[in-house]
Amino acid sequence: MLFTSRRADQRTSLLQRLWPGRCLLCGDPATAQRICRSCRDDLPRNHCPCPLCARPLPAPTTTACADCQRRPPPFARVRAPWIYTLPIDHLLHRFKYHGQLGYGYLLAELLAEYLAGELANSSAPGLILPVPLHPARQRWRGFNQALELARPCAGRLGIPLETRRLHRVRATPEQVQLKASARRRNLRGAFSFAGHCPAHVAIVDDVFTTGSTAAEIARVLHRAGARHVEVWCVARA
Ligand SMILES: [Zn+2]
Ligand SMILES: [Zn+2]
Repeated sequence: MLFTSRRADQRTSLLQRLWPGRCLLCGDPATAQRICRSCRDDLPRNHCPCPLCARPLPAPTTTACADCQRRPPPFARVRAPWIYTLPIDHLLHRFKYHGQLGYGYLLAELLAEYLAGELANSSAPGLILPVPLHPARQRWRGFNQALELARPCAGRLGIPLETRRLHRVRATPEQVQLKASARRRNLRGAFSFAGHCPAHVAIVDDVFTTGSTAAEIARVLHRAGARHVEVWCVARA
């Protein structure tokens, strides 16, 4: 009896740590969600994204940004609902580097909801591929942030999640410290895909920065048979 109730207590406290029943941003207890309406409305929306790379632009447009025109990316398009600034950068950082999974669940739910709206009027990919971590880094971190974000999206959208065929075959230094050209060199040959890839797929990552990771994976998927590779991220830097 004692053991049962203690286990129940532990379960409650774990749940409370993941989601304390209050808005994760302002602490408002009057919400049934992980985020209250007012904090949600204040999130930095990527209102005018480049139709290819989702770079935030000053006005709505159907024309690709100057960078995409000069150097068309190997992926079809990026969907990124928020700009990588407060509080999104803070939430992602707490999730990724401090293992605060409650923030990850919140971001995943928000991304899934955004994608459900986006895909209501366009064709959906046949497969969702989270950007893999090298096994050594995943062991060290304990989880793959891209997979944690992709899983609720796959569930909400009813699209299969593929985690066994796209591999990071080479450990690469953290991209953060590298310049764009060094990032591209750093990633060459870092990924592989086993077997034939469906024509339309989506890669999921946490943040889209220079796009070098997404570009390298898109090239690998194209070689495996993909024709239309989308990139889904929580935020655009
Ligand atoms: Zn709030
Ligand atoms: Zn662009």
